[in-house]
Amino acid sequence: MFKTTGLGSSEILEKVQAKSVLTAEETAAFDRVKMRVEQICQRAFETQVPVLMDAEDSWIQNPIDDMAYEMMKKYNQQKAIVFNTFQMYRSDMLGNLRNAFHVAAMHNYFLGVKMVRGAYMEKEAERAANLGYPNPIHPSKQATDDAFNQGLAFCVDNKQRVSVLCGSHNEYSNQYLTILMHKHGMKTNDQRVWFAQLLGMSDNISFNLAKAGYNVAKYVPYGPVESVMPYLLRRATENTSVAGQSSRELGLIRKELKRRRG
Ligand SMILES: Cc1cc2nc3c(=O)[nH]c(=O)nc-3n(C[C@H](O)[C@H](O)[C@H](O)COP(=O)(O)OP(=O)(O)OC[C@H]3O[C@@H](n4cnc5c(N)ncnc54)[C@H](O)[C@@H]3O)c2cc1C
Repeated sequence: MFKTTGLGSSEILEKVQAKSVLTAEETAAFDRVKMRVEQICQRAFETQVPVLMDAEDSWIQNPIDDMAYEMMKKYNQQKAIVFNTFQMYRSDMLGNLRNAFHVAAMHNYFLGVKMVRGAYMEKEAERAANLGYPNPIHPSKQATDDAFNQGLAFCVDNKQRVSVLCGSHNEYSNQYLTILMHKHGMKTNDQRVWFAQLLGMSDNISFNLAKAGYNVAKYVPYGPVESVMPYLLRRATENTSVAGQSSRELGLIRKELKRRRG
């Protein structure tokens, strides 16, 4: 997985999305970002190791999407090697997913989907309020959850062309995906479906899925400390404030310790 803003400046991506005129220097910098994305995807294709492009802020996402589909067209001819990320907290995202599927079908390539709920809810709301446009995020957690689970169902329904990686610590969504696979008669280790959690988070979910034979990846954040710390802090806050998955995990560990002590 990689963040495109780790390969170039987000200011340039924002200008590209806003269709602002770039200076010659900015055009050259944007070309370098595209070249780096291409190098990563080409290497992924050569080694046949899937690569997943992260989703970021909605005001820089369009150029990231464009690059992702450009790469899929090139490298996903036989199977999904390049994956784009769909943030299901955005109210337009189920539509975007269907669209991406139709474009893939039209150009006859495989669609790689990394499905997440989305990490920048507060930032999105703040910018929308400041600039006076409607908040692009669903009005409730339930609406995000419903969209996420519908998205999973859409991917499994279209498994002939779609591979999906469920990037989530939500117990129900992970379980729901196993139910969908079972309903569709898919083997637990079908290469078109992956589950992913962060290293050190929701091990109860990852380990149980892996034990049952599902494909599981642990995501290891890597990068300069000033970029990785805010990332980890966001995850830590999310996991203690929302739905309490982390405290649930701690509760399970305590229960197991008690059981072993007898
Ligand atoms: C492997 C992996 C890769 C990831 N990659 C990305 C990425 O590329 N881009 C990215 O943005 N995030 C990414 N994330 C983070 C992800 O988007 C979530 O922020 C995080 O996983 C928490 O959501 P959850 O599905 O685990 O479950 P939960 O804890 O059930 O859901 C929390 C999420 O629900 C949504 N939510 C909460 N309250 C509300 C509300 N009131 N209204 C609407 N929605 C609400 C928010 O998205 C919040 O983060 C990744 C996570 C993982 C595990």
